[in-house]
Amino acid sequence: MSKKTLHAVLFGPPGSGKGTQGQLLADRFDVPQIGAGELFRAEIAEKTVQGKLLKEYVGSGVLVPDELVNAVITNQLKQLDLRKGFVLDGYPRNVEQATHLNRVAKINLAIQLKIPDKEAVRRLTGRVQCVECEQVYHLTDTPPIKPGICALCGGKLKKRNDDTKELIRKRLETFHFMTEPLVTYYRQQGVLLTITGEQAIPYVFEEIIKRIGKLGFKS
Ligand SMILES: [Zn+2]
Repeated sequence: MSKKTLHAVLFGPPGSGKGTQGQLLADRFDVPQIGAGELFRAEIAEKTVQGKLLKEYVGSGVLVPDELVNAVITNQLKQLDLRKGFVLDGYPRNVEQATHLNRVAKINLAIQLKIPDKEAVRRLTGRVQCVECEQVYHLTDTPPIKPGICALCGGKLKKRNDDTKELIRKRLETFHFMTEPLVTYYRQQGVLLTITGEQAIPYVFEEIIKRIGKLGFKS
């Protein structure tokens, strides 16, 4: 059997580890990872036209419109050689975006990372991130060697502004209402793979590798 090229999306509630698993998967298959969150933050930091628009929405707490999100992602995908594959996480966030994505690049694997809300809250409230290199730590699960200092670059560790209890609950609500319908969408497309994301990062990753290997995706 010839190897299948990975045209994958990962989705799950905040705290499910989709960014981390997306990066591991992209590294293992030697394909680019597109993290929607980082991509949007980069656009904002570079003050592109789209970045300025994004900043207004993010700052006001209003959901970023699909057209804008789609445009930023499409731009990024156009810069890639899609025949070589890719891994996307943090996008699509709803069925409309998924429909748009399928027109730009047909998705052949949608990994749903499933964790209970309680665990998501526990993970996110303990999460800190390096202000320099964006490395993520968890105060009890994966603490840095020196408290408050990034083990990789020596940068300061900070909580993300949206990792407050109240905002975490809101983000989870939004996920259930808006993003969870992707389960049905991708099941109908015949590309859904559901993975329990509660275990530690390496175990979840091995489970992903094992399960997608059976589907013909081999690194
Ligand atoms: Zn750092």
